[in-house]
Amino acid sequence: MSGRNTSELHILCSASQLFLQPLWDHLRTWEALIQSPFFPVIFSIITYVGFCLPFVVLDVLCPWVPALRRYKIHPDFLPTTRQLLPCLGQTLYQHLIFVFPVTLLHWSRCPTFLPHEAPELFQLVCHVVFCLLLFDTEFFVWHVLHHKVPWLYRSFHKMHHQNSSSFALATQYMSIWELFSLGFFDMMNVTLLECHPLTVLVFHVVNMWLSVEDHSGYDFPWSTHRLVPFGWYGGVAHHDLHHSTFNCNFAPYFTHWDKILGTLRSAHTK
Ligand SMILES: [Zn+2]
Ligand SMILES: [Zn+2]
Repeated sequence: MSGRNTSELHILCSASQLFLQPLWDHLRTWEALIQSPFFPVIFSIITYVGFCLPFVVLDVLCPWVPALRRYKIHPDFLPTTRQLLPCLGQTLYQHLIFVFPVTLLHWSRCPTFLPHEAPELFQLVCHVVFCLLLFDTEFFVWHVLHHKVPWLYRSFHKMHHQNSSSFALATQYMSIWELFSLGFFDMMNVTLLECHPLTVLVFHVVNMWLSVEDHSGYDFPWSTHRLVPFGWYGGVAHHDLHHSTFNCNFAPYFTHWDKILGTLRSAHTK
């Protein structure tokens, strides 16, 4: 590469780093909270409940706003309080009793380090996409195994399938083994790629949103699968089909692994 091209690339990288620096500087004013052992659990619960809440409100509004039903995958299904509360309770219980002690142990061994410099925007986007692809692959293998081996299904994955018509708060209605497996894949990928802490936060938020959207029961014109071209992304109707038929669409987000292994079934979207 010529000297001019190298310096142009350097200027471009610095510019994209400058783009995120104000945001990162602002977040670092919360350094004490971000570095505390409570942060991962607080962040996880607030993000999860925050993403679920709009869908809960939509379900409450549905009887009065019939137009909303045209975006529902199962127009006649509305989760009841007896379905919603156990799901929320399970998430809070698992985070407090299991996830918090594990994050505390992790924090005591390797405390969070926050560098002064923000990541470059291009690197952040590449890392997030790569982490999602890795997560999709790992969960695909885990998921196929837990459907094909009856003991694994009964012991660890059956709980997540108790709600055949899914709704947002059912996203994390799963056994503690399944929750830990997802958390492990999540953390392993960002550690392997040596992601910047801001990238880790962005990845967790994106991953959480996509998993809630997958279970939301709503297929909007702006849903992720409509924004990603060539049918590369499965999305909400695709994952809903997995919940109702059990034998297809094992990958949580993308479609390539199910296509390769012949387990892809297209959902008929409106
Ligand atoms: Zn699911
Ligand atoms: Zn499953």
